[in-house]
Amino acid sequence: MREKVASSYVIEPERRIPVICEADVCVVGGSATGVFAAVRAARLGAKVVIIECQNSFGGVATNGLVSVWHSFYDLSGKKQIIAGLSEEVLSRLPETDRSQGPDLSNFFNPNELKIELDALLKEAGVRIYLHTLYAGIACEGGRITTVFVENKDGRGAIKAGFFIDATGDGDLCRDLGIESYLNPNVQPPSAVFMMQGTRDEARKREYGLRPNDDIVPAMIRRYGKEFGLEPDWGWDNFIPGLNNIHFRADTHVFGLNCAHADELTEAEIIGREKMRKVIRMMRKYGNPDEVYALVNVCSYIGIRDSYHFRTKQRADHMDMLMGKRYGDVILNGTYDIDVHQADTGIQFMRLNGECITEGADGSRTVTNWRRDMGLSCDGEMPTYYSLPFGVLVQEKYENLIAAGRMINATQEAFGALRVMVNLNQIGEAAGVAAYIAVNESKAVQNIDGVKVAQLLSKGGSANIC
Ligand SMILES: Cc1cc2nc3c(=O)[nH]c(=O)nc-3n(C[C@H](O)[C@H](O)[C@H](O)COP(=O)(O)OP(=O)(O)OC[C@H]3O[C@@H](n4cnc5c(N)ncnc54)[C@H](O)[C@@H]3O)c2cc1C
Repeated sequence: MREKVASSYVIEPERRIPVICEADVCVVGGSATGVFAAVRAARLGAKVVIIECQNSFGGVATNGLVSVWHSFYDLSGKKQIIAGLSEEVLSRLPETDRSQGPDLSNFFNPNELKIELDALLKEAGVRIYLHTLYAGIACEGGRITTVFVENKDGRGAIKAGFFIDATGDGDLCRDLGIESYLNPNVQPPSAVFMMQGTRDEARKREYGLRPNDDIVPAMIRRYGKEFGLEPDWGWDNFIPGLNNIHFRADTHVFGLNCAHADELTEAEIIGREKMRKVIRMMRKYGNPDEVYALVNVCSYIGIRDSYHFRTKQRADHMDMLMGKRYGDVILNGTYDIDVHQADTGIQFMRLNGECITEGADGSRTVTNWRRDMGLSCDGEMPTYYSLPFGVLVQEKYENLIAAGRMINATQEAFGALRVMVNLNQIGEAAGVAAYIAVNESKAVQNIDGVKVAQLLSKGGSANIC
């Protein structure tokens, strides 16, 4: 169990906890990763329950205000490599509330997505608990029997045959003592906000920017010091259907591990202070004809990275960059290896060999990782990467899968896998595997990964077979 070092301790009195739900599969955490796990298992016939501590589903995509899922296509833009629930749920949104960028990224209104995820779960017959916090776990031998939750009704127990940890930080894995590690460079969190006031063409020219460039990072470099803002490599994006309102991610918070209560609290407060500083800077130095305002604040800070948990196989960036293929494939993707670092800025490594480093000082350098590694730069390059089922299989408990950013991956592989179109697919794979485990009374370690891939494919996932 999670042990916090304290100066004194009390013994909690023993008490009887009511069993509030019994299910085949219990999903803890309701970002799209968790929701898609639940829906996949339920559609196959499992009795599923999902618990989420916020008031709505979607995680960083909705409550974190990062309303963009990357392209469903390979790098040629012609072959669809991702489909499944990511495609289904976006296609259900009203057309005004979704759109595609030139690179085929998918933008959507996060509030609309929340409502669609509710509908998806209800249609699949999933038992839903919102405002419900996972609070503990019980096992018998190598088998988990129960999770404990806290909500308005007090403490309750949920019993299930299989558990999916979709909490992002891997709260269940941590309590179960599964071996964990932090990456050498833990990617910093950012508190995202929606800002009114984006039109500033005259000033963009003054800064030497192009019409589609984002002016705010350049302004932070010039004026940020006056407001207590250090240079950042923030970015923004439009929200379909909203006029003159963008979501902004200018507020990296460095040096804190948000898997711990005190550091999470501090990060939330620093993140919100930074949002206000950005708005104040824009009001003083932005376009005088604009009314800059904080329209919406994320309901929780977007966490990019915390603990990772050991599984049978570790996702390896070189396998991904070389386009290795698998019979038990559960994921296809193209998103670059994208590592945010406190000192040097962002580094992107692309399948085609490009390696781009963007500094907080506005600098941009382009090299070629293939050439630097002595690999050929001619001939056909892979147009997408894949991941095998083994990456999800932990070896300590027979009825648990962790699905989400706690994935077992090298730092670089994680830089690519952490985006939502990838984690959404991992959620779907976890749901399918949970169904197989329950249906065939198998330990997760004995599930046939090829069968997972086949069922994923039958359920609408593209090219996963
Ligand atoms: C600022 C920022 C920008 C990003 N940009 C992009 C981008 O442009 N495109 C992209 O695809 N990805 C982007 N990412 C990455 C991506 O958003 C995250 O890696 C991804 O959302 C993580 O998904 P997850 O399901 O693992 O975790 P989360 O989305 O964090 O979901 C975890 C869920 O579990 C719930 N939960 C946690 N603990 C408990 C508990 N104890 N009890 C009950 N519920 C619990 C949480 O409330 C949440 O709903 C960005 C991330 C950040 C922070």
